[in-house]
Amino acid sequence: MSKSIIVTGGSRGIGAATARLAAQKGFAVCVNYQSAADAANAVVADIKAAGGKALAVQADVSNADDISRLFETAVNELGPLGAVINNGGITGPLARLDETSAEDIRRTIDVNLTGTALCCAEAVRRLSTKYGGPGGSIVNVSSAAARIGGAHEWIDYAASKGGVDTLTIGLAIEVGNEGIRVNAVRPGLTDTDIHVSAGAPDRMARMAPNIPMKRAASPEEIANAIIWLTSDEASYVNGAILDVAGGR
Ligand code: NAP
Repeated sequence: MSKSIIVTGGSRGIGAATARLAAQKGFAVCVNYQSAADAANAVVADIKAAGGKALAVQADVSNADDISRLFETAVNELGPLGAVINNGGITGPLARLDETSAEDIRRTIDVNLTGTALCCAEAVRRLSTKYGGPGGSIVNVSSAAARIGGAHEWIDYAASKGGVDTLTIGLAIEVGNEGIRVNAVRPGLTDTDIHVSAGAPDRMARMAPNIPMKRAASPEEIANAIIWLTSDEASYVNGAILDVAGGR
């Protein structure tokens, strides 16, 4: 029986590319989304059309009850869990920190950091050999912003991703002897709609010249690294934070 994988924020961008690649690698894919049901269902339809198994499940990753329901549904409908990709994330609008609202700061940290921590905890409860689970792999999607700092754009977002890096390091140590590998991918500028959502449709064109490779990544280039980390080829990779950022 194929293992299932949960991809949070799988309705578009990096998450959708990861969901599609996971299906190609033989996972039954739970495509989580927050609000874009049509987009998530389109990813599921693509996977099914290619002969794979997939299911779209709405859940807000900042909500613990939603996360329990997400994991329960994935396991019941798709079979034993093998991997969890904590990809769903947001930025607020581009602004200096002193011009960012308390509400935007709280929401960004709630979704990106608290949401990742809650999903990691649920994944451990279901995967860890300590609880009779089969073991598995967790990949957290961080950001190059965690080491650059996000000045003049989104320091709160960068800090939330710094938290994701620390969470990854700590959890990899905590469950390293329980059959679970925990790693992070730190994408650089990637060609998705996140920039438009942040109110900066010109951001990619503006930023590309600052990148050694002079271009943004495609979502598929990030997905390749994420899915490699779930694979047996990465069987001794644990606690790693893999920069996929074109040298930036
Ligand atoms: P995107 O195109 O904006 O997609 C974001 C995804 O996250 C969507 O599927 C969205 O679902 C989902 N999402 C948002 N809030 C959620 C919540 N509360 N609960 C569940 N799902 C939620 O973003 P992306 O560019 O692909 O980014 C994916 C990840 O990579 C994020 O963690 C981001 O921080 C990180 N990253 C991106 C870049 C980049 O340049 N694009 C660079 C570094 C890191 P709905 O569509 O249903 O709202």
